[in-house]
Amino acid sequence: MKVMKFGGTSVGKPHRMHEVANLITKDNEDKIVVLSAVSGTTNSLVEIGNFLSANNKAEAKTKIDALEAQYRSFIKELVATPEALQKAEDVLKEHFEFLNIILRISYNEALNKDILAQGELLSTKLFSIYLGEKGIDHALLPALDFMSIDANDEPQVEAIREKIKTALAQHPGKKLFITQGYICRNAKGEVDNLKRGGSDYSASLIAAAIKASVCEIWTDISGMHNNDPRVVNKTIPIEQLSFDEAAELAYFGAKILHPASIWPAQQYNIPVKLLNTMEPEAKGTIIVEKAASVGVKAVAAKDSITAVNIRSSRMLLAYGFLRRVFEIFEKYRTPIDMITTSEVAVSVTIDNDASLTEIVRELESFSTVGVDKGQTIICIVGNEIAAHPDTLKKVFESLQNVDVRMVSYGGSAHNISLLVDSAQKTDVLKGLNSGLFGLN
Ligand code: ASP
Ligand code: MG
Repeated sequence: MKVMKFGGTSVGKPHRMHEVANLITKDNEDKIVVLSAVSGTTNSLVEIGNFLSANNKAEAKTKIDALEAQYRSFIKELVATPEALQKAEDVLKEHFEFLNIILRISYNEALNKDILAQGELLSTKLFSIYLGEKGIDHALLPALDFMSIDANDEPQVEAIREKIKTALAQHPGKKLFITQGYICRNAKGEVDNLKRGGSDYSASLIAAAIKASVCEIWTDISGMHNNDPRVVNKTIPIEQLSFDEAAELAYFGAKILHPASIWPAQQYNIPVKLLNTMEPEAKGTIIVEKAASVGVKAVAAKDSITAVNIRSSRMLLAYGFLRRVFEIFEKYRTPIDMITTSEVAVSVTIDNDASLTEIVRELESFSTVGVDKGQTIICIVGNEIAAHPDTLKKVFESLQNVDVRMVSYGGSAHNISLLVDSAQKTDVLKGLNSGLFGLN
């Protein structure tokens, strides 16, 4: 059995949904198809939630009506027969009535999660109606019956496995299942989600739970590329990556894959393929246990990073200093990405600065603190690159005229990270594209 996940743009237009139906019926392998919401829908639902939380019901209503109008025209192109159209209209009625009822209830966080869940519920139900019209045998598998997170908001593959087994067993003989990405139930049994972009994570968790032969992530570009195509002129697709390499790239800026989606696949050793719905024949990228080769594979950039420099003469020859520093970040549940130290100072980077003021205040009780916002982490990824002294030399040769604020080298064998001011990101990515890959 395999898992195929289609992102928002892959189901974003009626004709794209038609194409998805072709792609999932190309081979005879049993499969679970995971769908995102139609592109733009989750953003609209977020806005609706924001208007409601600000008690702006009029704007929320306008937004709900606009979304409904959009879906009304969507279904007219999606299906052809009056029977299917009627079914699709019934689905819209159910979900938009729900949103309109919410308008009249007082807003709370749990209700907001219900609002956010509407996108994936709509896309899967409408797609199922289209499949039915085409006579493609399948079953709709409600993700809320099996996808769950624990009290720490963490999904547990074993728990999901048990529930998905039960859900699948209700459809003996079926070979094709359609389910929602992103949505789940939390420890209280309420509707919740795996955070924005979480459909990839759903796919990977399902693939791990059913021990799938492969987890295919279908998007609108042909796999991971060696550099950011929005910044540099020329990029090349990467045919094969190891889980470790892919995890670094996904975390440090390669937008194609949700970073959390690597671990379930890696833990249960399920190959992940990144494929393109617009160009289904393209090879894409396969992510497996072993790296294909030694050497630099790609660079990626992560913006909106804050660097915090913590300086204290007490650090000199002292132990326990770093623990005190880390405890403060831990207390405010703020992950640290990069760290560099000297004898009297330590610099760390964070991408979530929600608690920055409190963190700085506590650090200042025993050190002098400097904060630099607007930084970018440039991550250079490849198998065993840290073992090749040549890589570091080439990196710095490519970066003439760049002020490198921090360097992290040797933490893992397949990553070198640099911190630069975001204003220099373009120069750095372009410099590395020519210096490391010979591309312009
Ligand atoms: N629809 C959700 C989002 O836009 C989840 C996803 O598409 O991965 O974030
Ligand atoms: Mg996505």
